[in-house]
Amino acid sequence: MTTPFAKPDLRSDLQTAFDTQHRQAPQMALTTADQRIERIRRIQTWVITNESAIQKALYDDFRKPASEVSIGELMPLHAEIKHIIQHLKQWMKAQPLPTPLALLGTKSYIRYEPKGNVLIIAPWNYPFVLAIKPLLSAIAAGNVAMVKPSELTPHTSGLIKRMLTDLFLPEEVMVFEGDADVAQSLLALPFNHIFFTGSSAVGRIVMAAAATHLASVTLELGGKSPALIDASANVKLAAAQVAWGKCLNNGQTCIAPDYVLVHESIKQPFVQALQANVTAMYSPDGKPVDTSDSYARIVNTQHFERIRALIDDAVAKGATVTLGGNLNAGQKFIEPTVLEGVTDTMRVMQEEIFGPVLPVLTYTNLDDALQIINQREKPLALYIQSRNRQTTQYILDRTSAGNTVVNDTMVHFGNIELPFGGVNHSGLGKSNGFFGFQAFSNQRGIMQREFGTLKFIYPPYTDKVKKL
Ligand code: NAD
Repeated sequence: MTTPFAKPDLRSDLQTAFDTQHRQAPQMALTTADQRIERIRRIQTWVITNESAIQKALYDDFRKPASEVSIGELMPLHAEIKHIIQHLKQWMKAQPLPTPLALLGTKSYIRYEPKGNVLIIAPWNYPFVLAIKPLLSAIAAGNVAMVKPSELTPHTSGLIKRMLTDLFLPEEVMVFEGDADVAQSLLALPFNHIFFTGSSAVGRIVMAAAATHLASVTLELGGKSPALIDASANVKLAAAQVAWGKCLNNGQTCIAPDYVLVHESIKQPFVQALQANVTAMYSPDGKPVDTSDSYARIVNTQHFERIRALIDDAVAKGATVTLGGNLNAGQKFIEPTVLEGVTDTMRVMQEEIFGPVLPVLTYTNLDDALQIINQREKPLALYIQSRNRQTTQYILDRTSAGNTVVNDTMVHFGNIELPFGGVNHSGLGKSNGFFGFQAFSNQRGIMQREFGTLKFIYPPYTDKVKKL
């Protein structure tokens, strides 16, 4: 992987680059909504013009099918762009607030101002959208930005570097390719805000680095997102939605259903329907899944071996593979695989799976299922499949998650109006639309006195003040 600077000089060169952006930050803060929208349109035009290059880069990185690039990367990006263009003027306006009677003569409002110098660190699983979408929010909020894409998807990272170098002056936007060393060198700089998308383990490192400069952070992390399927659920539909959510991007999606908790009474038809849906999606012609053009691959050998080890550990401890189970190391191919009979002693129930492997657990008592969810860290997403509104409410009231979808999986990422993000181990802060703009803005509370004053509370104090 190439880095823009020779290693020994990396830190001082990054400092120089940072200083250049720091000098520019006050100018960026003064940009109008139209000027920011013009920058956003540059990205929009580039993405439309270079769609096939983006698709090729992602295919070269891990055989991501072009349609999945459209669904998972380009559609959310275009939705974000349109939303910002439509609403930015409104977001940038002073937001008036009510005034208490005691402060008669004043008016209060929020002014959204840019945080200044921001750093965006992106993961490999949706390497294009997860680098560019936060950048759109950063620009909308009037910041200067450095972007560090993932080293595990070098074709896409190279494309991002070319794109942003073509579109922006370095004092406004810069890209630094490279691995954890480059990320660590960037994290040593005194950014005002760091927007990190990646694992909870690295999220902790980012937050510790941010603490040195008291930079604010948005952490978009991962974890184990459950799908809870109660006895009233539409079994076939639930299975179709879970199968799609688990297999899109080869299971390498932060909000993929990680494991299923299904009511014992519908487990058999649910697993059968999973099988039918996997066949319909990836072997409609009866050919094996690895011949399908619609099925991506595991990103690299290390992740392939990690997932293989999760399956082996579960099987060694008594779990059964009831669907799939075929692997091909040379192709980094793992068939959609269902594991039954899993227990908490197995690694597959202790770690985020991040691959097309689905533990299916059963329950008979809903509170037992909730305990399985609640004894783990709060998930990024919790999926509820139920046609019973009271049951749905019961589950919502007794769990916590970054997002929840009732009667579907993963589609919430498509609604730009919803705050997207986790809670604690699954993330801090939110992104999407206005929430992304907010993440990159300081909400400056301003009070302006128009007339009068509060002189009666100044010393010397009288009995009148005591009675207030
Ligand atoms: P990762 O944490 O390994 O890497 C993310 C980024 O951090 C990369 O750019 C990498 O170069 C950098 N990095 C790695 N080690 C570092 C270190 N020691 N110090 C500083 N930087 C370091 O994550 P990943 O494997 O790229 O992505 C998968 C994870 O991301 C999963 O846990 C997934 O759930 C999560 N994720 C979350 C979201 C979300 O929106 N919440 C979206 C996508 C992925």
